[in-house]
Amino acid sequence: MTEINHGDLIILGVTIKPGESKEVNFNVANLHTSTPVNVPIIIERAKKPGPTVLFTAGIHGDEVNGVEIVRQLISKGINKPKAGTVICMPVINVFGFINLKREFPDGRDLNRVFPGSPTGSLAGRVAHKLITEVIPNVDMIIDFHTGGSGRFNAPQLRFEKSNLELIALAKVFGAPFVLYSKNLPKSFRSTCSKLGKPILLFEGGKSFHIDDAVTNSGVNGSKRILKHLGMLATTIKSMRPKHDCVFIDDSKWQRAKFSGMFKATIRIGAYVQKKDVLGYITDPYGKFNYFVKAPNSGYIINVNESPIVYQGDALFHISTKLKRVLK
Ligand SMILES: [Zn+2]
Repeated sequence: MTEINHGDLIILGVTIKPGESKEVNFNVANLHTSTPVNVPIIIERAKKPGPTVLFTAGIHGDEVNGVEIVRQLISKGINKPKAGTVICMPVINVFGFINLKREFPDGRDLNRVFPGSPTGSLAGRVAHKLITEVIPNVDMIIDFHTGGSGRFNAPQLRFEKSNLELIALAKVFGAPFVLYSKNLPKSFRSTCSKLGKPILLFEGGKSFHIDDAVTNSGVNGSKRILKHLGMLATTIKSMRPKHDCVFIDDSKWQRAKFSGMFKATIRIGAYVQKKDVLGYITDPYGKFNYFVKAPNSGYIINVNESPIVYQGDALFHISTKLKRVLK
């Protein structure tokens, strides 16, 4: 990883010297009540030079668990490095967070408008500001997300296949799963990758929910990365996670064959055999009970926790091909 900040760091016109702590306001726009809306950027610099790591969350305003992970990094002082710089942006889509919505007030998904433009939509302007003002100053990014609409993700990192640098970092992070997935066009991840910035995308839990196991996985993984980079000033229990990380080469969504009331019975993250019962779909009248069985053996990396499903809804995300990764 290249290290770019040894001297003064300048973000949005504010100079932050080595050894300084500063909060910079990323002015987004005004609310319709003319109240200004700011996204705070929390910057902590050690005197000793080192890499610059950016932690982001809340690109989707409803993904509160990611926000909680970055909040804990700050409140526990993990973001105060002994070398280098840590930058935290806990809520990028602050509009969505205020409105309890995934999208921006203009209905746009911020994660589909990168790299944005200074004259485009509101979401596009925020994307542009982030990419031009913050990203050039960082050496690596960890971006926290959750599953959407009631679908609970086992803690997992996502990036494109055969990126050796990210594979090495993912092993250090130690989330239970790594899922190889293509960079979506116009996403934050794809734009950062194109700019040559290594980015680990963390997915864990579901929207409007905070889960302790997911939070701990995100916080501990972040600490391991900082320790690995020689930046962690706080203590760490173990550089090795309880279980080895499972690398998933391919996976498939299992969809509901029937509409009805749904209850999953399988634990998220469990390994199942083909034809194991994963849950059941029923009707409200006690006449229908359909057992959902595993179409193949694999790990259950996402479970739909919605009590009502329609035919075709995604119920379980199951690994179909694992990758052996040498230690
Ligand atoms: Zn998201």
